[in-house]
Amino acid sequence: MMNRSLAIIIAVILVAAILGYVVLSRKHEDSLRIGLSMDTLQEERWQRDRDYFIEHARELGAAVSVQVANSSDDLQLQQCQNLITQDVDVLVIVPHNQKTTAKAVKDAHAANIKTIAYDRMIEDCDVDLYVSFDGVRVGELQGEYAVKHVPKGNYVIINGAKTDHNAHLFREGYMKVLKPYIERGDIVIVHDEWALDWEPGNARSIMENALANNKVDAVVAANDGTASGAIQAIRAEGLEEKILVTGQDAELAACQRIAQGMQSMTVYKDVKELARLAAAAAVKFAEGKEVETNSVINNGRIDVPSLLIEPVSVNKDNLYEIIVKSGFHKKEDVYKYVPRSEWPTD
Ligand code: BGC
Repeated sequence: MMNRSLAIIIAVILVAAILGYVVLSRKHEDSLRIGLSMDTLQEERWQRDRDYFIEHARELGAAVSVQVANSSDDLQLQQCQNLITQDVDVLVIVPHNQKTTAKAVKDAHAANIKTIAYDRMIEDCDVDLYVSFDGVRVGELQGEYAVKHVPKGNYVIINGAKTDHNAHLFREGYMKVLKPYIERGDIVIVHDEWALDWEPGNARSIMENALANNKVDAVVAANDGTASGAIQAIRAEGLEEKILVTGQDAELAACQRIAQGMQSMTVYKDVKELARLAAAAAVKFAEGKEVETNSVINNGRIDVPSLLIEPVSVNKDNLYEIIVKSGFHKKEDVYKYVPRSEWPTD
């Protein structure tokens, strides 16, 4: 009788110990905390980036604190400081400003916290990792599409925000492609400007000015937001479908414009994969482990270990294949403004 009770007590203690272990190890996993400092949620993509990042981090047992700086350098620095004070295990930053954000990296390092530059590089600092797309390639894809379809004519260039390192990489890419055409005199750049904070409204004003003074054949717009501003100005003049317009991000509205023939191309970037890679790297850093990389990019101070993803050029011909079949957008959304009889089928 006595032995039976003892056995029950031992069994209860064992079960309690196992449960305690499970709860404690779960608690350890949950206790990994990632700070995610974002410049903006203005473009559609950033909400996906945030949501996929949180989702994947959670799957790996980490919680994410997100702060959004609404294009303010000061606010972003304050928010990073805030996350550092909250003692996050790793700090992931989408910088508004390629230069001033270096301070956040320094502050994080002073608190022994590793840092990741997400999508946009941070210059002149010892940032631990850069996870992004091949930005120069993005620009090349835009330039290649433009010269293939408009090898001669007047071009308007609408660059992104001058404060964003990516905007310079995109420019490097398309200017490299346009250069020989410009040197031969086949292509004339009639307008070349930077859209402050990537604002579509700024792009629209740039385009209005350009159209007021020139006949324009092609617009290299650095992303879909600036393309939308340029297209508004083009439509106001009744010139839609007559001017080639590039873009980037494969935003739903841009894909709809491509289906309708109002925008010529965009560049698809698999942000789900980007967020997955970045979240996995952040968790590794938080656990004190190394991260495997596939590239290095110099940021003016060091060769930053980098993880780069290839972007994909999208136009009317491969819109269905790349955007709908991958599940990025739904067919009924992309072709919403196109007669059903013209919808692509498998
Ligand atoms: C990103 C683009 C985005 C732009 C504006 C760039 O750094 O790479 O995808 O459209 O910022 O937010």
